Amino acid sequence: MTENAINNTDWVSMAASVNFETRPFINGVYVKSRSNAEFCTKNPATRKKLAVFADCGVWDVDAAVVAARSAYQGEWRKASPERRKILLLALAHKVREASSELAMFDCMEMGMPISMALQQVKQAADFIQYYAELADKIYGEVAPTDHANVLAMTYMQPRGVVGVISPWNYPLLTAALAIAPALSAGNTIVSKPSEQSPSSVLKLAELSIDAGLPAGALNVVPGLGEHAGAALASHMDVDKMHFTGSTSVGRQLMVYAGQSNGKPVMLEAGGKSPQIVFEDAVDIEGLGESLVQSAFINSGQLCVARTRLIVHEKIKNQIVEEIYRAVKNVFTIGDTLDTSVNFGPISSQVQYKRVEDYMKIGQEERADLQVLEVSGNKPECGYYVQPALFVNARNDMRVSQEEIFGPAMTIISFKTEVEAVALANDVRYGLAATAWTRDVGRARRLARDLEAGRVDIRTSASSGANLAALSAEPYGGSGYGVLGGIRGLDPYMRLKGVQIITE
Ligand code: NAD
Repeated sequence: MTENAINNTDWVSMAASVNFETRPFINGVYVKSRSNAEFCTKNPATRKKLAVFADCGVWDVDAAVVAARSAYQGEWRKASPERRKILLLALAHKVREASSELAMFDCMEMGMPISMALQQVKQAADFIQYYAELADKIYGEVAPTDHANVLAMTYMQPRGVVGVISPWNYPLLTAALAIAPALSAGNTIVSKPSEQSPSSVLKLAELSIDAGLPAGALNVVPGLGEHAGAALASHMDVDKMHFTGSTSVGRQLMVYAGQSNGKPVMLEAGGKSPQIVFEDAVDIEGLGESLVQSAFINSGQLCVARTRLIVHEKIKNQIVEEIYRAVKNVFTIGDTLDTSVNFGPISSQVQYKRVEDYMKIGQEERADLQVLEVSGNKPECGYYVQPALFVNARNDMRVSQEEIFGPAMTIISFKTEVEAVALANDVRYGLAATAWTRDVGRARRLARDLEAGRVDIRTSASSGANLAALSAEPYGGSGYGVLGGIRGLDPYMRLKGVQIITE
């Protein structure tokens, strides 16, 4: 959508008339769930109930897996790579066409301001397009052999039925990050979105039929993690799981896999990402804005949020002042349907309490809690919180080590580069890291030594590569498996060694 179109849309009226489809989407249609259980979604900006969904159980999950298996063995696996490309490009197009509806679902269900939700839909469409274009560029290999009568090859083949379990923080995007490469590689999907925000993923499945994908290629079972999620991850006929969410639930999925058919599980889990500011970075234009943007975007509910600020002791006070100034410039709090707002509520009462608890924990640990103020007016209702700093924190404090998943940043100072790297790496997670320095030698050392799947070394606040184009694999508690880029197809393919031996 153009900026004009965004500003001219009556989002309030649109929100009032949203229709939530609450049934599972299986084999190309919405069907009645065989489970009697239900769950309900709420808007965290208003605390009002939105809709009651089917809480799918083992029967629904089984029906979805049967549909996915049949689509895999039927049309999808046999479709030419070019056809898969054309259909997935059509899906990306449909997502763009439906962007206001998709964004409205995520805005209402998890509290992401509408302007940000629209950007997230665009990123999801771009991601689908990127992997659509790779569908006909998957090559195998020819192995060297001593014998002229032997042709030895590696085939790249789809894995089969892939289960995708995704979180609420970027509901459509996190699901698309797995669905797009998996479909491109020729797999079919059963998706279980978060119970807080199932609607955009249900709609994506509906759009896949409009785009011409076969029925059963993308099925969606809404439900609670311990019901639909556990049934999917424990299913004997699912060939692979892709999980995005917390580290503890990710590890539980590995147990389900071990207790069922031993399927491989790919984990994109939690984070507590560092951002190092060296003394040579102080007068970089846009530094303060970039620091707060990367920590507090989506109210800090981002797996790669750079929430541990590791700053040279000589410039610490200056950087804290810079943060106070920048946060007002960057963020405006308010009604999530107002297009000028970019700082929304925390996504749920549970998450709100978790953030509040960490504020108390930080104070008990004697970090200096300083509450910042963004621009705009904080609405009375809704789970809104202002961003906060824990100044003079130590790296061994819980607020420095544990994922808060809210707008809170710890500030830890250092004296030497060796100390900065040790602090950055001294955490159980390893999703992303940023460092600000103009020293080229140091930049190369940091790129080598920082233990994170994605490392950004910056001398500029300007935006980086397209999210889809960069392959990355997390460290430690943040999971494993490649996401993004051409290599992002590998986890969804099986390598088969084939020899043709003739006389
Ligand atoms: P969560 O782990 O509570 O839930 C994630 C998904 O798992 C949901 O769909 C949930 O229903 C399901 N689930 C819960 N219990 C389950 C069970 N026993 N069996 C099967 N499925 C189950 O996480 P969340 O609160 O939805 O999301 C926040 C977390 O996600 C944070 O830790 C964040 O860092 C992480 N995250 C990671 C990435 C990444 O790319 N690494 C991206 C976004 C979010």
